[in-house]
Amino acid sequence: METLVSKRTMKQIIQNDAGYLVMPDLAFSEPDEVTRQPDGTLTCECFTFTILEQECEHIAAVRSWIGNYQLPTMTQADADYYLSRLGELDAMKNENTASADLQIQRVKHWLDFENGSLDRKRQYFVEALAGWMSDSLYKTKRLVNGTLRLRTQPLTIEVIDEAMVMQDKRFVRNVPAQEKLDKASLRAHITETGEEIEGTRIEISLPKFSYTTNPL
Ligand SMILES: [Zn+2]
Repeated sequence: METLVSKRTMKQIIQNDAGYLVMPDLAFSEPDEVTRQPDGTLTCECFTFTILEQECEHIAAVRSWIGNYQLPTMTQADADYYLSRLGELDAMKNENTASADLQIQRVKHWLDFENGSLDRKRQYFVEALAGWMSDSLYKTKRLVNGTLRLRTQPLTIEVIDEAMVMQDKRFVRNVPAQEKLDKASLRAHITETGEEIEGTRIEISLPKFSYTTNPL
């Protein structure tokens, strides 16, 4: 890996729509991202640019890379190196997520504990007020501090044995035979013939890229 990078006189750069990823000279430091702003200016995430507010080596590298632009040639060694960097970024993300999850758990635990105590206290008031509304046969009651409402709820009916209920023909409804779209045969036909059937819109998706990395 080191030889691959140090052999190059210019920094290795990967471009996409967002900007440029400048590969580090040292194999195990992080790549730096140079972002292209809508007005065309380049910004970098590195210390030199953000804190010292000076043009950094990464932006300089991007400028010279643009100046000497030639069709990118990517070798298998590049691909393998990129895959290893991808694996490192994934590992760092996982570590961040694990550390955030731990904090999230602690915050949730605190919230459950604190709100649990408040909820139990609330419940006394809620039950007392609901009971009072019910005893007084009120549906709505406006008070100085707010309004109370007691709404009757629709029945909840769960059918436990459908066949048994359907023996009572009062509750049986005939559904006429339906014509339904046969999506499987539609897909098979379009895939095979490429014919655009009226009433359909065909979208061709790019092949889905995925990867697995070997343990570091
Ligand atoms: Zn920089």
